[in-house]
Amino acid sequence: MSTKRVYLFSEGNATMRDLLGGKGANLAEMTNIGLPVPPGLTVTTEVCTEYYREGKKLPATLMADVKVAVAEVEKITGLGFGAPSKPLLLSVRSGSKFSMPGMMDTVLNLGLNPTTVEAMIAESGNPRFVYDSYRRFIMMFSDVAFGLSKGYFDNEIFSVYKKKVGAVNDLDLTADNLKEICDLFLAHVREGAGREFPTDVYEQLELSIEAVFRSWNNDRAIIYRRTEKIPDEIGTAVTVQAMVYGNMGDDCGTGVAFTRDPSNGEKLLFGEYLMNAQGEDVVAGVRTPVPISELEKQNPEIYKQFTDTCDKLEAHYKEMQDIEFTIQNNKLYMLQCRTGKRTGPAAVRTAVEMVAEGLIDKETAILRVTGSHLDQLLHPRIDPAALAGATLLATGLPASPGAAVGTAIFTADKAAELGVHGGAGQKVILIREETNPDDVHGMLAAQAVLTARGGKTSHAAVVARGFGIPCVAGAESLHVDDKNHVMKVGGHTINEGDTITLDGTSGCIYLGALPLIDPEVSGSFGTLMTWCDEFRRMGVRANADNPRDAKQAMEFGAEGIGLCRTEHMFFETDRLPIVQQLILTKDEAVRQACLDKLEVVQQGDFEGIFEAMDGKPVTIRLIDPPLHEFLPSHETLVREIATLEAQLSVQASPSDADKKTLVEKQALLHEVESMKEANPMMGMRGVRLSIILPGMVIMQTRAILQAAAKLIKAGKKVQPEIMIPLVSTVNELKVVQGQLEAEAKLIVEREGVEIPYMFGTMIEIPRAALTSGEIAEQAQFFSFGTNDLTQMTFGYSRDDAEGKFLQRYVEQKILAVNPFESIDQTGVGRLMKMSVEEGRKARPGLKCGICGEHGGDPDSVIFCHQIGLDYVSCSPFRVPIARLAAAQGAIADRVAVGHRDR
Ligand code: ADP
Ligand code: MG
Ligand code: MG
Repeated sequence: MSTKRVYLFSEGNATMRDLLGGKGANLAEMTNIGLPVPPGLTVTTEVCTEYYREGKKLPATLMADVKVAVAEVEKITGLGFGAPSKPLLLSVRSGSKFSMPGMMDTVLNLGLNPTTVEAMIAESGNPRFVYDSYRRFIMMFSDVAFGLSKGYFDNEIFSVYKKKVGAVNDLDLTADNLKEICDLFLAHVREGAGREFPTDVYEQLELSIEAVFRSWNNDRAIIYRRTEKIPDEIGTAVTVQAMVYGNMGDDCGTGVAFTRDPSNGEKLLFGEYLMNAQGEDVVAGVRTPVPISELEKQNPEIYKQFTDTCDKLEAHYKEMQDIEFTIQNNKLYMLQCRTGKRTGPAAVRTAVEMVAEGLIDKETAILRVTGSHLDQLLHPRIDPAALAGATLLATGLPASPGAAVGTAIFTADKAAELGVHGGAGQKVILIREETNPDDVHGMLAAQAVLTARGGKTSHAAVVARGFGIPCVAGAESLHVDDKNHVMKVGGHTINEGDTITLDGTSGCIYLGALPLIDPEVSGSFGTLMTWCDEFRRMGVRANADNPRDAKQAMEFGAEGIGLCRTEHMFFETDRLPIVQQLILTKDEAVRQACLDKLEVVQQGDFEGIFEAMDGKPVTIRLIDPPLHEFLPSHETLVREIATLEAQLSVQASPSDADKKTLVEKQALLHEVESMKEANPMMGMRGVRLSIILPGMVIMQTRAILQAAAKLIKAGKKVQPEIMIPLVSTVNELKVVQGQLEAEAKLIVEREGVEIPYMFGTMIEIPRAALTSGEIAEQAQFFSFGTNDLTQMTFGYSRDDAEGKFLQRYVEQKILAVNPFESIDQTGVGRLMKMSVEEGRKARPGLKCGICGEHGGDPDSVIFCHQIGLDYVSCSPFRVPIARLAAAQGAIADRVAVGHRDR
């Protein structure tokens, strides 16, 4: 641990994010590359850790160190902290390694007290500015240090006073008005905090530093960290900086900007500002900010300074920057820069364009795009054909792209309760007048967010973009009644529960549910994908059970099918009766007749899939689930029988047909009861079924190979890989594979063509993984079924665990991640690694893949790369994400990815 607790900006740099936080490190970097940054100092994150370790006490010598650094700032600025003339005011700002926008509190104008207020009035000749600063300081300080809510100051004092004097806008308030407001604020502090507002400037500073450390553990910071997977232990730094004033007059202002458009990635300066304003005025939605392009007209000189600075920053960081700035008397000051959060489309476009501009290489471009970025490009949009007849309710700002349909919900709590991440799992759209950090849990559970107020940099917009949730902000024609849960717009009334459609790309909101259509890989996205393919070693396949999914998978770049589940074909309405009859009959001839019928339809299915995959490998899993899944459930049957019996009992002469139905249902119930198992997931299924009832898999094998033969004869290429599920011992495989091989030989002979088929197995039972050497002598390929492998390795029933305890386990950090979402690398992953190694020892070059849902999870894909799998297979819509992650895994082998920014 370093003993140095306080760093001047001139002593730090951008690599010191761990110690100085992102904000402190970047302020230091900007200082050192010669940008106009007001001087300051940063108290390290280690001091935050120390503060909590010592039972929430600041180190005894900390303030002495701070004083030495403040003296430096006084020297640079020529001002004095707490001095009766030329007073120095400071801002106190939080900042952890990872940016947590708006999550912790900032204090501005610290150092004001009756003495310094007098001095500043005398020196600036601008009492309005001084009292405006003072009232802001009292409010922000009291909020963070004494826990007196900003809302009370704002709504119960400030707004009430404004109304009383007839001021519409903050700028309508005079110096005397603001002075009176300061007095009202101070009186509220006296009452609320039970003490006088501190006048000693170092007391102000110490209390603020402590408050920033405390704010690390406020509710909204904790929730944000949890959703962003930011560790709780890293702590926050505190940055103390000389104030510059955007509220000193009309040649002053404050704003935020991005060096590229964060919603679509276009290379242009994007942002908003307000003249004669301070701090959060721009994002708080108090006044409507002006687009940055206006600055060019308003003040071309400042605009030029600004664009030059932005160019310099981008060239320096080689990355899109998110900037906070203030203009004081026509001079620009940089107050913050960080890597700009962006939507998926913007991430892809900026990465690809920066390669073209020579700013970064392809590897860097690939590493900058994340799975969730791509996920957004794979989001649906409104079918343009449906737009003509749609009822447009309103338009707002297109704040975060993508379209969504959902029911209108007006409170974050309700959205969190009903939304997809909550219990019920409905599709909801959260509608608010405007959002604030208390709404984040509701936003996360919503399909989309809609606000009536706020700009493209409002809280709603920033958070929605960060999480990839479609958002329309500032739809001013909406009258949102947050209290009564209703919204009026034009002639329409939207009540809670009514369905609307929102398009975050265009900013339009429509009545009812419009059809959405699926996206495609083109433009920058297509370019990035081809780069990924250049770098990755692993293949990417898709899980697809029918020709339609197979086609979709091909469009997204799948190189084969890694899992084709045959039983899904059995569930189709024309087939289910045959399957049921097959299961229930005791008559051998009837059974064979059923199998013959199924063979014809299954062969048709396989022909379709082989055709769609155009010669690429297709792994077909033989029947896997317990047979009772094809029959009506026990509960349904019992209910139906009871109803029927009740009906018959009141009829004088029940019809023969009804009586027959009853007898049939009773027989079916008896059958279902006899098949009932205590643990069906560990019962008669998979290879066990094939051994007890071989007819089904023999039929499937015939269907597969006959389909293949037919296509081959038609001059097409096919590569069927027949996969046997749920194997736990090689002996099972010997029995079943032996039978199927014999059948295969017959077909090859009869058809007179070479069919390049393979027989392999799933590795999804720990015992199979543990005996992979033996199994590989029999199986020609392995495919890890990580859903079952996780279930059986942990001993968690997947279907029950998710709802019962898994979420708690993750919250309490008993598990780092939900092992059904991301592979448990230490446990399940170890089995996989071992299995690959032993399998390949027995059969060199053994083809190994994964077909569990983990195949579409970026971290799991990278892990699969690391243990040497040949391919991953995932749902068609995750194929591009898997291609990206596979490339990232390969690039990580070559370069250290430690510098990867969040
Ligand atoms: P956050 O992390 O929530 O963005 P900041 O620490 O960046 O909080 O502070 C919020 C805003 O306060 C800044 O965007 C800026 O407008 C204002 N601010 C912070 N420090 C100063 C300063 N030294 N001078 C003027 N304004 C400042
Ligand atoms: Mg900031
Ligand atoms: Mg399985």
